[in-house]
Amino acid sequence: MSDFDYDLFVIGAGSGGLAASKRAAKYGAKVAIAEGDLVGGTCVIRGCVPKKLMVYASHFSHFSHESAGYGWTIPAGTFDWAKLRDAIQTEVMRLNKLHISFLEKNNVELISGFARFVDAHTVAVGDRQFTAERILISVGGEATKPNLAGMEHAITSKEMFLLPKFPQRFAVIGGGYIGVEFAGIMRGLGAEVTQIIRDRAILRGFDDDVRNNVQEGMGHHGINLQTCIDSSTLAITKEENNLAITFNDASGKPQIVNVDAVLSATGRKPNLAPLNLENAGIKVINNAIAVREDSSTNQPHIYAIGDCTDRVNLTPVAIAEGRAFADTVYGHTPRFISHTNIPSAVFSQPEAATVGLTEEQARELYGDRVKVYKTKFRPMFYSLAGGEAKTMMKLIVVGEEERVLGLHMVGKEAAEIIQGMALVITMGGCKKDLDNTMAMHPTAAEEFVTLS
Ligand code: NDP
Repeated sequence: MSDFDYDLFVIGAGSGGLAASKRAAKYGAKVAIAEGDLVGGTCVIRGCVPKKLMVYASHFSHFSHESAGYGWTIPAGTFDWAKLRDAIQTEVMRLNKLHISFLEKNNVELISGFARFVDAHTVAVGDRQFTAERILISVGGEATKPNLAGMEHAITSKEMFLLPKFPQRFAVIGGGYIGVEFAGIMRGLGAEVTQIIRDRAILRGFDDDVRNNVQEGMGHHGINLQTCIDSSTLAITKEENNLAITFNDASGKPQIVNVDAVLSATGRKPNLAPLNLENAGIKVINNAIAVREDSSTNQPHIYAIGDCTDRVNLTPVAIAEGRAFADTVYGHTPRFISHTNIPSAVFSQPEAATVGLTEEQARELYGDRVKVYKTKFRPMFYSLAGGEAKTMMKLIVVGEEERVLGLHMVGKEAAEIIQGMALVITMGGCKKDLDNTMAMHPTAAEEFVTLS
C-alpha cells in the first residue's frame, strides 16, 4: 500500500495531461488531475479547435463568387459575428464536458483549481493538499506580448474567440503561425486586415518557397502586409474611436494604421509562474522545464510534457509525450518519442503544410547531393471558379537513391495531403517509392507521385 494519496498527480488538463492521465489510469495507477480552467487546455478551449472552426467560417465568403463560375447564382451573404462566436463557445463547452466524461470513465479524479508545489511530493490546490508518488506537469503555455508602447491595448489569441464586437479594421503584429492564421480568418470574415511583420517574409523557419507562396496568396486574399524591421518604432495609441498603430516601415518611413482591434501574436512562453517550482527543486532552463528524453525532470519522480517544456509546441506532440510517459512508467514498455520529422500545418489562407527538412537545412547538411523537385499549378477547382489561387508542392531528396528529406505544400488541403505523405519520411522512403505509387486522377495530391 502506497503512503501517498495518489500514484500520479497530473497538473494541467490540456491535451498532453489528459492523454497521460487516462493511459496511466488504464494501467491501474491511482490518478488525479488538477485544472484551474475548463478541461481541454489551449488546443480545445482557446486554440486549434475554435481556430479551425473560424477558418471554416471564413471560407464561406468565397462561395458566392466561386460558385458563379459553376453556374450558380448565390447572393453574397451577411455575416453575424455573435452567432459564430457563440456557436463556437457552445462547441467548446461540449468538448469540455466530453473530456470530463472521458476522465470519469477512466477513473481519473478531476480536481478543480490551479495546483502549486508545496514540496517535491506534495501539491496544493486552493487550501487542500495532496501527495503523490509521481507528478506530471503539463501546464502548457501562454501568449507573450512584446514590451512596446501601448501593447496593453492589444489582445492575444485567447481573447480573439470572445470579442464582443467584430472588428471591421483589424491588425496583427507577428508573422508566425497565429499571426498568419488570424489574418486569414479575419480577412475571410470581411475585415480590412493589416499584418505587421519584422522579417523579410512571414513564417520564419519554414522553407522559403512555403513562406513566399503563402505570402503571395495572402496578398491576393487582400491582406495588407507591412514590414517594420525596427519594432521599437511600433506603438499603439488609444483614440476616441479607434486604435492607432504607428511604426516605421521597411524603408524607415513613418506609417499609421487605424484599427478597431490589434492582435499581438509574437510568441508564447511556458506557463510556469503559478507552480512554485522552486518548492520542488525543479530545474528551469530558458523559462522552460528542463527535461530528459523520457520527459523526466532533474527530480526523477517528476515529469513534464508539452509546451511547458518548449520542445516542439504542438498538440499531437504533447499527447505523444504523455502516452510515452505512461507506457514507460506504468505500462512497463519503455519508449521515447522522436522530435524529428514532425509534420505541421499552418491554417493560413492559402494553407501550408510541411514535414522534414527545408531546402536550406538540407543543403547545409548534404550540400550538392540535394535535389529539389517542385511544381506550381492552378488547382482544377479554380479553372471555373476563377481567382489567383495556386498550389505549390516541393520534394527535397538526397543522394543517388533520392531519399526523401522534406515535403512541403501550399494550397487547398495541404494539411490533409502532407499528413498522409509524412509516412514516406518516417519509413525512409525514396523518390522511386513515390514514382512507383499509382496516381489518383484528377487530384492535386497526384502531383507528389508524378514529379519529374
Ligand atoms: P511564433 O513564434 O510562431 O511567431 C511569432 C512571430 O512574432 C514571428 O513572426 C516573430 O518574428 C514575431 N515577433 C516576435 N517578437 C516580436 C516583436 N517584438 N515585434 C514584432 N514581431 C515580433 O509564435 P505564435 O505566437 O504565432 O505561435 C506560438 C506557437 O503556437 C507556435 O510556435 C506553434 O508552436 C503554436 N501554434 C501552432 C499552430 C499550428 O500548428 N497550426 C497554430 C497556432 C499556434 P520573427 O520571425 O522575426 O522572430
